[in-house]
Amino acid sequence: VSKRLEKFKTTIFTQMSNLALKHGAINLGQGFPNFDGPDFVKEAAIQAIREGKNQYARGYGIPDLNIAIAERFKKDTGIELDPEKEVTVTSGCTEAIAATILGLINPGDEVVVFAPFYDSYEATLSMAGAKIKSLTLRPPDFAVPLAELQAAVTSQTRAIFINTPHNPTGKMLTRAELEFIANLCTAHDVLAFTDEVYDKLAFEAEHISLASIPGMHERTVTMNSLGKTFSLTGWKIGWAIAPPHLTWGVRQAHAYLTFATSTPMQWAGSAALRAPESYYEELRRDYSTKKAILVQGLEDVGFVVYPSSGTYFVVVDHTPFGFGDDISFCEHLIKEVGVVAIPTSVFYLNPEEGKNLVRFTFCKDEGTLRAAVARMKEKL
Ligand code: GLN
Repeated sequence: VSKRLEKFKTTIFTQMSNLALKHGAINLGQGFPNFDGPDFVKEAAIQAIREGKNQYARGYGIPDLNIAIAERFKKDTGIELDPEKEVTVTSGCTEAIAATILGLINPGDEVVVFAPFYDSYEATLSMAGAKIKSLTLRPPDFAVPLAELQAAVTSQTRAIFINTPHNPTGKMLTRAELEFIANLCTAHDVLAFTDEVYDKLAFEAEHISLASIPGMHERTVTMNSLGKTFSLTGWKIGWAIAPPHLTWGVRQAHAYLTFATSTPMQWAGSAALRAPESYYEELRRDYSTKKAILVQGLEDVGFVVYPSSGTYFVVVDHTPFGFGDDISFCEHLIKEVGVVAIPTSVFYLNPEEGKNLVRFTFCKDEGTLRAAVARMKEKL
């Protein structure tokens, strides 16, 4: 394996899902629903395939999907996009992240990230030869460390990478935090990359897109996908929204990474994004119930549960159970209790910082969540 990737192991999600299968454990680790996406979206994919929409799509997205993404963004942020010049369809948000970083970051450029971070950020920044400056979000509230951020952003900084609602903690950036970031970006001529794939899973706060802060659209790449919102994580339809001069970089990387994304799934994606608002309300309602079951269950089991405002994750402190670190705790949980969680130390440059925390997901049917809680009550 190349030097840029040699420090990375099999992704923690793959490792943990494999262990779940091997030990017959209930998987509250990798974030994928154990229920299916809506019929109207699946039917749209089937219809597109039957209608012969099966050859290469236009590289940056079928026109209909680019338009649907722009319309959705207008509803969410008020920003009017040019769907031809400011929207790029990618193979999931993970490809949007890769295309953004590879298309806009030069070797040696500094990029600020916030730990714990989704694992692909670090790996992709490493592929691009970027210098990573990692700032840590600390429990209990995982607030942005403003003074540290101010000190970290210099003339060497090319971009700040944020994620809100935040995986794994569920932290949602407040307007004040976003404005602070926006001011730094403007003052130091820094780009902003924002991963907002959990924007429709906002429970305790209102999701605010960084691009909607005045002056930010022109320097921001906003990334999102269908997977979480439509419970179709295997479809891998994502996108990057950016002003034309940044979109050019994203598209140049995308053109040589994957060239284009699955055509029939893009047709289905454009049907999905035109869902009535009631779809989103119902999604949030369903997930609120699931969240309440898991959070109450984890508290009853004896964890310290940190408040999560958005995403389908909650982070807990496992130290009441006496294990040395998150990895040994998760091993015990899988083998002796039969439940899978995600150790968070892999989401930090310094793993020590995450060793007390593990992440559980509630994107499972209620019976599964209750069964996992019952196992932990009995055996932990
Ligand atoms: N984003 C999902 C999670 O955090 C899974 C991503 C993956 O499996 N690579 O669980």
